Amino acid sequence: MLTYESLGARRIINAATTLTALGGSLMPAEVLDAMRAAAGSFVDMHELQHRLGQELAAATRNEAALVTAGCAAGLVLTVLGARTGPDPVRIQRLIDGHGERDEVIVHTAHRIPYDTAVILAGARVRTVGDVLQTFEWQLEAAISDRTAAILYVAGDHLPPGALPLEVVVRVGHAHGVPVIVDCAAQLPPVENLWRFTRDMGADAAVFSGGKALHGPQASGLVVGTHALIEAARAHAAPHQRLARALKVGKEEMLGLAAAVDRYLALDHEAMRERWYRIVEDWSAGLSDLQQVDCIIEDRNEAGQPVPRLRIDLIGERVRGRGGEVVQLLRAGDPRIEVLANGPKGIWIGPDLVSDEEASVVSAAVRSALLALGAS
Ligand SMILES: *Cc1c(COP(=O)(O)O)cnc(C)c1O
Repeated sequence: MLTYESLGARRIINAATTLTALGGSLMPAEVLDAMRAAAGSFVDMHELQHRLGQELAAATRNEAALVTAGCAAGLVLTVLGARTGPDPVRIQRLIDGHGERDEVIVHTAHRIPYDTAVILAGARVRTVGDVLQTFEWQLEAAISDRTAAILYVAGDHLPPGALPLEVVVRVGHAHGVPVIVDCAAQLPPVENLWRFTRDMGADAAVFSGGKALHGPQASGLVVGTHALIEAARAHAAPHQRLARALKVGKEEMLGLAAAVDRYLALDHEAMRERWYRIVEDWSAGLSDLQQVDCIIEDRNEAGQPVPRLRIDLIGERVRGRGGEVVQLLRAGDPRIEVLANGPKGIWIGPDLVSDEEASVVSAAVRSALLALGAS
């Protein structure tokens, strides 16, 4: 059997975040069990998708839900759905190259690498506003009969120039335009599973299954209205249509469902306390070093309430050498990945490490800093 070791792919301790490039997140036993059980027999995939959608919708307090091959796949599917609705005639016209509604409105402040999903859905991004501000009338002006949807990116880490989601929903809906929210990494808090849709009125919210949910790496969850989700589903496998290439297996479907169940039942407060305990220990372990400053931040890189430790290199010997710290940790055994803060230093995050790994990270960061001459 091939393994990471036999392939020469080094195992990583992930003190960075749920990066796809590092494998996303790890699946707990209940998710693996659900996938194994799903793999044990054949099933009618239309029926499974339909029933699972109902269960996931109820569990997440939404009207409808759909399992996809990731958040990016969920964005492609919801844009396709917004372009055509569920009507097979309109879907066929799109397949035949005569698609309608070929624009998706995105705030300039929300341009992110993942909006390539719009292109894959055969539409183009029409930007509105600038990084500093957007006015309601600018959004109104951007809407036309070519508009399929407004793609909104959630998160406090983005530039401030976008309109509030409530305004976008009000304006969009006044023109019959659905609002799709990319909230791939917007968990925790768990309430976000229904906040953007049920509470704020967006038509779809799209989450990664392979990030904080700890579901299969190649899974995603769309929640929202029947209308948009049924339209999105009409493009998806097992149909032989445009999004066939984004197929989700029965194993991912039941794995993600188990992950959502687990996430809803987690003691989130206890988890937060554990995270704080780890970052406080990390900080204490470096407190004697005069050359570095440790700051406990309450939010992660996606603006979510997951603490992390920011280590600033301030002393003369270490200043500007953040990249070297990253490299030393990467070259170490075990290999440790952290988030780079440019030359200024690094961040280390507690949510993807075991207690044992947390101690390994603590010792390795300390010795990397000492190697640079910190004291
Ligand atoms: C991670 C991420 C995605 C992509 O999610 P996948 O589940 O990997 O497809 C999309 N948008 C944002 C903002 C993300 O952080």
